[in-house]
Amino acid sequence: MSESSLDTPIEFIKGVGPKRADWLRTELGIYSAGDLLEYLPFRYEDRSKFATVSGISTDSTAIQLKGVITGIKQVGSKRGSRLVARFQDDTGSLDLVWFKGAKWFASQIPVQQRVVVFGKPTAYQGKWNMPHPEIELESAFELRNGRGLQPVYRSTEKLTNRGLASAGIGRVIRSWLGNEEFQVPEILPQALLEELQMPGRLAAFRSVHLPADPPEADSARRRLKFEELLYLQLTLLRQKKRQTLDVPGVRFEQVGDHFNQFYKDHLTFELTGAQKRVMREIRVDVNTGWHMNRLLQGDVGSGKTMIAMLTALLALDNGCQACVMAPTEILANQHLESFREALKGMPIRVELLTGSVKTAARKPILQGLASGEVHILIGTHALIEPAVEFKRLGLAIIDEQHRFGVAQRSKLWAKASPPPHVLVMTATPIPRTLAMTAYGDLDVSIIDEMPPGRKSIKTVHRHDSARLSVFKFMEDEVKQGRQVYVVYPLIEESATLDYKDLMDGYESLSRRFPLPDFRLGIVHGRMKPKDKDIEMARFSEGTSQILVATTVIEVGVNVPNASVMVVESAERFGLAQLHQLRGRVGRGSEQSYCILMTSGEISKEANLRMETMCRTNDGFEIAEVDMELRGPGDLMGTQQSGVPDLKMADLMRDREILTAARYIASRILEEDAELELPKYAILKTELKRVQSGRPDWSRIS
Ligand code: ADP
Ligand code: MG
Repeated sequence: MSESSLDTPIEFIKGVGPKRADWLRTELGIYSAGDLLEYLPFRYEDRSKFATVSGISTDSTAIQLKGVITGIKQVGSKRGSRLVARFQDDTGSLDLVWFKGAKWFASQIPVQQRVVVFGKPTAYQGKWNMPHPEIELESAFELRNGRGLQPVYRSTEKLTNRGLASAGIGRVIRSWLGNEEFQVPEILPQALLEELQMPGRLAAFRSVHLPADPPEADSARRRLKFEELLYLQLTLLRQKKRQTLDVPGVRFEQVGDHFNQFYKDHLTFELTGAQKRVMREIRVDVNTGWHMNRLLQGDVGSGKTMIAMLTALLALDNGCQACVMAPTEILANQHLESFREALKGMPIRVELLTGSVKTAARKPILQGLASGEVHILIGTHALIEPAVEFKRLGLAIIDEQHRFGVAQRSKLWAKASPPPHVLVMTATPIPRTLAMTAYGDLDVSIIDEMPPGRKSIKTVHRHDSARLSVFKFMEDEVKQGRQVYVVYPLIEESATLDYKDLMDGYESLSRRFPLPDFRLGIVHGRMKPKDKDIEMARFSEGTSQILVATTVIEVGVNVPNASVMVVESAERFGLAQLHQLRGRVGRGSEQSYCILMTSGEISKEANLRMETMCRTNDGFEIAEVDMELRGPGDLMGTQQSGVPDLKMADLMRDREILTAARYIASRILEEDAELELPKYAILKTELKRVQSGRPDWSRIS
């Protein structure tokens, strides 16, 4: 291993040493020379122009001066000590000032030598000075071939106080890159680099840290990000192949009578373009001979259930049974109703199995499943109990997947051999690029089009001070026969206070909307499930008109007559949750409304959430904003976060490069799944190295 190897620990790099190595490790996670090179600048400054001291004016931003430091002194004051250095150029002089790290800088400043200083001048007591400038010997500056672009690196306060601000980090990186023996192995096949017109690896590192001009820096960044994302996609696609493509599946070869009859006689509307596209994707998938594992994303009301039905009919047409698993009894019941309604008159038996189906009623269902007389089974996780045996289960549909873990999915697999095709439906959209990486083992279908004629929900943001007019609005809606949800936040950590808010809110609403003209209901997580069901049923029958609730109503409840969703303390909800909540209204023919209530000042970020909700109803657009605000890891939730830790690329900003990497990775694997061709040897070697050295990637399931 040569001295200049990328694995060289950071403390052995010139200009680092054990102390700074420690800081680089803890503050930036930089352990080796390779990590350092992969620490890309986040922007560049144009350093080709010089200003003069006499030319400084009030509107100067950061400027660059050439001259000499004539002396330094420590100055004590009541507010603490500072370091002052006198800088002089041909036109005048100004003071350079350090308020922090004075001692360290005092030992570093080159006195009586030609220097280049860079910083933002500020006026202090009628004179210009420059706090915390960057200083570089003019000779070193020239040595960088007078390259005009200066990379800017993210640093931290701790590092800055120890001479590792952006400029210091840059110096360390450049000294390493300037090392004659320095070598970087290429990790992309030559032919691919040529095809994509990308620079080699060493050239890319040099250009990204020492660019001549913006286009050179850009193309270098692209190459490095692409390389990282390509290896990520190769990892994911190979994993997926192992987990799904290599598993045999039942073939649904024919579209038969059930499907055709339904399509001809029962479907009262035309499928949307998106629904048709998704059906095509599924039909291809279930006929490959391999096992389907597909995620179907689409906003509430976009018609996912219809896709579920059509796919179930396809299973039936091919001599198989199908099951639908929902996260709650309410949802399971709703699915049962819509399936029975839609399939009325067809020789198809649909049954329900939930925790509350009594033993006596269970027996014939279980028998029917075993004999094949029950064609479609709908239920909750009661479906995965061992007692439930199918004659020939060919398809398992899972609704609202975030409520089910991978473990539960795999229990469904065990119910048939070969395992049933799996279709997972979710109304919580995540950005495409994230889905592409986070759900490594799933194919993704997207319904991004609403059935025609749907009225979009009007969303407004109201301050607490407008409460009376909000109440008036609710009253008007109720008087027109509509129903209203009022939702309160309930966050685990502040549960007691939150319950108090909920109860206080319920009381004041009861006073404002008194019996007998109005009837209120309340549901929350501390109620017994039975009482909760009773309250929900009262609301869905229209017995109560206003339902005060916590987010227990978030998932799937369907009351088409409800037209108003009031969210209290809306600033405390995340975007995904607000979008889910809003999806509870707008299910009927009436115009629906969502009112987001906040009190007092709210944070800038909360404001952006409110604005986003008011601007759009598009779940994918909302998910993108959410991802920008929270980052991909948080968005996925901690338990199931399969989001890799990327060093150079960014899943959000580099979507385009990610898509390209995904495409190239699948093209390569299609040609050579095991990477055995000599031209891909380089990929095979590096992939092995990456997978052994990066625990973050092996987390992806
Ligand atoms: P999701 O499950 O995605 O929330 P559903 O499948 O329950 O949505 O569909 C919502 C409503 O829209 C249902 O009443 C359904 O019958 C109707 N629907 C579905 N697809 C279409 C379509 N292509 N055209 C008109 N209405 C549709
Ligand atoms: Mg649904």
